[in-house]
Amino acid sequence: ATPTAVMVATGKGASQGVLIKGGSALEKAHKVKTVVFDKTGTLTVGKPKVVSTKLFLDLAVLEFLDKASAAEANSEHPLAKAIVEHAKKLHQQYGSHSDVLVEVKDFEVHPGAGVSGNVGNSVVLVGNRKLMLASQVPIGTEVEDYVSDNEQLSRTCVLVAIDREIAGAFAITDPLKPEAERVVSFLRSMSISSIMITGDNWATASAIAKEVGIGTVFAETDPIGKAEKVRELQMQGLAVAMVGDGINDSPALVAADVGMAIGAGTDVAIEAADIVLIKNNLEDVITAIDLSRKTLFRIR
Ligand code: ADP
Ligand code: MG
Repeated sequence: ATPTAVMVATGKGASQGVLIKGGSALEKAHKVKTVVFDKTGTLTVGKPKVVSTKLFLDLAVLEFLDKASAAEANSEHPLAKAIVEHAKKLHQQYGSHSDVLVEVKDFEVHPGAGVSGNVGNSVVLVGNRKLMLASQVPIGTEVEDYVSDNEQLSRTCVLVAIDREIAGAFAITDPLKPEAERVVSFLRSMSISSIMITGDNWATASAIAKEVGIGTVFAETDPIGKAEKVRELQMQGLAVAMVGDGINDSPALVAADVGMAIGAGTDVAIEAADIVLIKNNLEDVITAIDLSRKTLFRIR
């Protein structure tokens, strides 16, 4: 496309809330044959809610919530926000202080796994099985049963370890964006296939994929694994778009022919992407591809 055509399309995109960084993404988007969608915060609303809290150790529920939410307080992850919100809500219900959070030290993010930190005198880990296994925290059958029961209900479970013992868990729901199913089916009508990739577990991921009409799922994938999947698809000769919102999606956003970030996503994802979907609406994946098609075919 001519520089003028790119400028016109970029301007048109911007006015529709599709921010295109440079001409290269615009020129590639019309070739896309596969769209890889991240799950949490991309296909789903990304405002997950805690629907159940379970304790496995003998400790007070508020103490458990304080430790978990202190560890999560600095995380940008939607699951972290759900846990912090839930802790605040329960504090209100119990009539205790609601906005004073316990402090965390040595806070660390483990992308695609969870967070860790020291809260008071305890080492607190909040995240999935992978995080617990990596830290040699044993997961007993009672915990396994709670987790698998909830995963079958499309819920994501977050485990909380205090001093290397599973102290409790949260079951969290995160509904699909209302347009998600429509976008997947419209892409199919454009001969573009949709794939879901997620760091979340296989059981929850499969349930969500089924709801949205996506047949190919890759679950329990870490950030590097997401990028590798994108490259594997590219090796099959397919032009690949990646749509994501998280730090964990950044390597895949960079690897993809066209990286698209959800506007409400983390800064790191927005920086890594070629296109930013300001309105957080998945329909704009189609808007971007359409804009590219029109720009390239107009000048030929
Ligand atoms: P997605 O790929 O669906 O956006 P992520 O890769 O961000 O998911 O996270 C994958 C999994 O890692 C989550 O389902 C959760 O189990 C765990 N996880 C990541 N970050 C956190 C966090 N801050 N708190 C709890 N769990 C987390
Ligand atoms: Mg995400």
